[in-house]
This record gives sequence, C-alpha cells and structure tokens, in this order.
Amino acid sequence: MTAPMPLPALPEPLPTRVVDNHTHLESIAGRLGTPEAPTIAEHLREAHKVGVDRLVQVGCDLDSAAASLQMPSGPAARMRVGVALHPNEVVSHHHIRETSPDGRDPISLPRHETTYDEAFARIAELARNSRVCAIAETGLDYFRAGERGRAVQRHAFRDHIALAKELGLPLQIHDREAHAAVLEVLDQDGAPEVTVIHSFSGDAAFARECLDRGLYLSFSGTVTFANARDLHEAAALVPTDRLLVETDAPYLTPHPNRGRVNTPAQLPHTVRFLADLRGEDLEPFCGHLSRVAEGLYGPF
Ligand SMILES: [Zn+2]
Repeated sequence: MTAPMPLPALPEPLPTRVVDNHTHLESIAGRLGTPEAPTIAEHLREAHKVGVDRLVQVGCDLDSAAASLQMPSGPAARMRVGVALHPNEVVSHHHIRETSPDGRDPISLPRHETTYDEAFARIAELARNSRVCAIAETGLDYFRAGERGRAVQRHAFRDHIALAKELGLPLQIHDREAHAAVLEVLDQDGAPEVTVIHSFSGDAAFARECLDRGLYLSFSGTVTFANARDLHEAAALVPTDRLLVETDAPYLTPHPNRGRVNTPAQLPHTVRFLADLRGEDLEPFCGHLSRVAEGLYGPF
C-alpha cells in the first residue's frame, strides 16, 4: 500500500476554456492510495475552475470502457468517452508473458479470462454508444513486449483502425518506443480521417513524418520537463490547427508537480508552457486549442 499523497494545488485558471483530449479519471483514486479520493464529479468541478471545461475520458480495458460510459458529464466540465483495448491489455488477453528483446520484464496485468476476440467484440459494441467520440487508446507499446506480444498488438491496432473507419470516429494512438512501426501500420492500412498521436513522445523528425500524413499531435505534461529537448523542438513546429493538449491523468504530471498524481485540473501548466515555447499569446492560443479539439470530437 502506497502512502496517501495529496493532490497538487490548482494552477491559475486559463483565460479561455480548453479541452483535455485524453484522461483516465477512474485511475486517479488508485494512484492516490486513499479511500477519501475526490469523486469523478469533484474532478470535473476542479477542472472547470481552472478553465478545463471539456474532457475525453479514455477507458482502455473492458471494465474501464464500460465504467466510463456510466460516468457523469458535469457538473461543470463536460465529458465524452474514448474506448479501446490498450496494447498492453491485448497482450494480456492473449496470455502472453515474455521479456522484451532488451530484457525488460513484461508488464504485470491481471490475466484476463476473456479472449482477445471476445474483448474486441465488446469494445466494438460499446463504441456505438452516442457518448463515444473516439477509439482510444490503441497502438503499439514495444517497451515491455517481446516478439509475440508485438505481433498481437499490431493485429489489434489494425482491428481498431478498421473500427474507427467503420464508425467514422477519430482514433487516438498510444506509441511507446514504436514510432516506425506505428507509421508502417498506418501506411499499410491507411489512417482514419482523424488520427491523433496521444502523448506525443518523438522528436522533430518524427513530428514531421506524422504531420506529412495528416495526423494530429497531442502533448501531455512530459513536454514541460526541462530535459525534454526533442519534445520541445517537436512541439514548436506543429501547426496550431494540428495541435492538441491532454493530461493522461493520473500519469505524466506536468512541471512543477512532476512525481505527484495528475488530474485534468493540472492541464493549464502544459498549456502555458506550450504557449511560451511557441511564442503565442495565451488567450488566442487557448481559443485555437479549443476549436481544434471541438472540430475533431464535436460538441461535448
Ligand atoms: Zn492514456
């Protein structure tokens, strides 16, 4: 049991309201290690206080996908939902446990009794709910996967691409140490019309490759880290009409709260950092971010 950790203080509110393009509200309580964690409704209220009035709640395993559709939209911040099977979940549904080529242990997830095919069929069913605005998050996580794991992830990634196209929904991609492989799959199958690289983690060259393919890039708190030079270069060159922001809460907390538990209310730190980095005035920059997100996901 980890020691309970207080949530970081609320940042100064943004002058214009923005969208948190990717968050996992159901995981915040577990990371805090306290039963008195704020409720989902309280997180929505706190986010709204600092100018985050809409968010995309991502449920990327069977339980959280179903639970996300039961969450309140409001009070205050409005919620839409992304559903998918995370690449690490896919490996777990296939009961594969192998070390990565460079010797990393497999990620420890509960061993699912549901087969991958059954699980994906369920996700495809949930994706038809009118609250769903994205297939999220799918993709490739090569960090802790061996050859068999990587193969089943690629297969599942293709299934999710096909589902997004069938339903006309945006696709949010998780890419961990798999930049080239992600582009290879997208080139083979063709990216859905709206495709977002969530929590972008590449350099300027990879950002250009993504932009050439018409993709959107979403930046999380990692871009605020002082040593993230490659990310800074990437974030500086993305045209405003392809740029999104997210928290990926409870992970990837922005500076100055790195190491604490993240919530959607921490998004203003990332937005301010990006505005400074790009030399943009904060208020119009927020307006752009808001319009781009709403253009992709529709009204919340
Ligand atoms: Zn995520």
